[in-house]
Amino acid sequence: MYEVRVRPRQVMSVFLVFCFLLYVVHKRSSSNCLSSTVENLQNDEPTIYCITPTYARPEQKAELTRLSHLFMLASNLHWIIVEDSEVQTQLVKNLLTQANLNKRSVVLNIKTPDQFKLKGKDPNWKKPRGAEQRNLALEWIRQNADPNKRSMVFFMDDDNTYTVELFREIAKIEEGHVGVWPVGLVGGLMVEKPLLNENNQVIGFNAAWRPERPFPIDMAGFAISTDLLLKFSKAVFSYEVERGYQESEILRQITARVDLQPLADLCTKVLVWHTRTEKTKLVYEEKLIKSHQERSDQGIEV
Ligand code: UDP
Ligand code: MN
Repeated sequence: MYEVRVRPRQVMSVFLVFCFLLYVVHKRSSSNCLSSTVENLQNDEPTIYCITPTYARPEQKAELTRLSHLFMLASNLHWIIVEDSEVQTQLVKNLLTQANLNKRSVVLNIKTPDQFKLKGKDPNWKKPRGAEQRNLALEWIRQNADPNKRSMVFFMDDDNTYTVELFREIAKIEEGHVGVWPVGLVGGLMVEKPLLNENNQVIGFNAAWRPERPFPIDMAGFAISTDLLLKFSKAVFSYEVERGYQESEILRQITARVDLQPLADLCTKVLVWHTRTEKTKLVYEEKLIKSHQERSDQGIEV
């Protein structure tokens, strides 16, 4: 029989080669993941103002907590939270402090006028949501953004799902431009996206719902170079427009289709989803309240 004799030095060499290969594989895979994204974002990137209208409801803290983690990952984001409320709340204050975001955020508040507020069983599309709040944030940006520093504005609803990569794309928006990209799970489709011609210009959209809108895209599907908002200083959202026309309303005042800048690998990637959070059923909590018993969240912020 042929006998294989293994010497300790050979074993050691094979082991070292194996360790080296493991190291190389690990390095290559981690260069595509979040750790490198964070590094990239920390380099001299432009500021991205993220405007989030928000209102008190049982799920609010959970939604805002998810968003706060994005801000912890990307240091060039500035959060403009606009509470749909007559007063600013402790919940929002606590959340920003907890996430160490006090220096990279501002809290504003303005209550949606009663005649525009959704009532109990109103379908959610009946009235525009967040219009008043987004306008107040635009006012803040026009007063506070440094016109000599490159920055972008993104309308970041509190219930959607955003990737860190999306913000790397938004940072690429050139002066005088609006960046656009696909949005997942919206408009009755798996994905709504801009359509490009062979020269990579946006020539249309695949929207199935109200495709005749001037810009048939969702709020999560575009961001604006701040210089455009300074140049068109009167551009605002409006309650006067038909439902689903808020995006078109602001965009038609500041840009044209031909000027849209396609992002997310020429609109081939989904980096944001229009998720919606189910309304929590609180039947037993309501019973406690009705029978004047102590609430489950007595003394605990939920
Ligand atoms: N919103 C608000 N006040 C309201 C209803 C909604 O400030 O009375 C905010 C909400 O928190 C979200 C944005 O407006 O950030 C859009 O609302 P929603 O997500 O309900 O709209 P949809 O996803 O249906 O377009
Ligand atoms: Mn939403």
